[in-house]
Amino acid sequence: MYLIDSHCHIDGSQFDEDRDEVVRRAKEAGVAAMLNVGTGDPHSDDFRRAVSVAERYDNVFASVGVHPHDAKLYDDRAEEHLIDLVKKSEKVVAWGEIGLDYYYDHSPRDVQQEVFRRQIRIAKRLGLPIIIHSRDADDDTVKILTEEYAVEPALQKPARSKGTSDRPTDSEVTGNENLKADSRKLKADSWNLENSFQQSAISRQPEGESQSFNTGHQPSAISHQSKSPGVMHCFGGTPEMAGQCLELGFYISFAGNVTFKKAEELRDAARVVPLDRLLVETDCPYLTPVPFRGKRNEPAYVVHTARFLAEFYGIEFEKLAEQTTKNFLDLFRANIAIEDTESS
Ligand SMILES: [Zn+2]
Ligand SMILES: [Zn+2]
Repeated sequence: MYLIDSHCHIDGSQFDEDRDEVVRRAKEAGVAAMLNVGTGDPHSDDFRRAVSVAERYDNVFASVGVHPHDAKLYDDRAEEHLIDLVKKSEKVVAWGEIGLDYYYDHSPRDVQQEVFRRQIRIAKRLGLPIIIHSRDADDDTVKILTEEYAVEPALQKPARSKGTSDRPTDSEVTGNENLKADSRKLKADSWNLENSFQQSAISRQPEGESQSFNTGHQPSAISHQSKSPGVMHCFGGTPEMAGQCLELGFYISFAGNVTFKKAEELRDAARVVPLDRLLVETDCPYLTPVPFRGKRNEPAYVVHTARFLAEFYGIEFEKLAEQTTKNFLDLFRANIAIEDTESS
């Protein structure tokens, strides 16, 4: 049994005293890998530090991208710095976290929106999946994602106007077909667990998955292409928003707050997420799941969130672990080395 913490911040100073221990405890708890998401001031050393933590440990990966809080600090120089980090380290497998945060409003909303769009385009160009942070900004987040991933105009308009007279470009055609195929699969596979688990997890499955959504954007040599555009991290939206994000091809990741007593609405959203689009995360040091709520969170605790969700979905914990691990590897194309202790 393996789990992956799809979103953590172990480069933070909260872990300076015991980072080695934290990584070791995660491994002992069955957390085979983790994705350390860089945040902070892109003109400081913050992102270099995030990547260096990933470089230091096996199976710790990194992402870089400017959080909506810091959108006001984004400029050409920041962008070059982050792209440079992507190019220099194989461990950087995603761009993020990016998005909109209207709860704190640390950066003006129009700036957040512009920087969000700009980073989406960079990620496309690099062939990297994105990690999205959206808080109290559901409508604008979905609007921007729909426009930027420009899948099908019909998604935005009343369904009737589907007949198109405009000839789509080749890349649009490819993207659309991928998406259609995907949403069909999504519907067909929804809760069809037999299907979902036919493919075994753990090993990467490269066959036929080299196409990104946006084949019009030539990725650079460092590309890690995924067929999904990314993940909605620490999902906190409505079931409707979850549905919209799934339609766009995104994975949905839940953090420890899904275990909180009062999180009924969040669990309503979890209900609409099919297992083959689900990820789990800690977002540590924040959002510690029950039963450790109140303590500093750490990657080992993702096990509690995963167990909670397995029970919630009424499936075996091992199945949830296996599928979410596979989902992570499919999305981030990460090379992880794990000894397979289970003979399948
Ligand atoms: Zn976040
Ligand atoms: Zn985060």
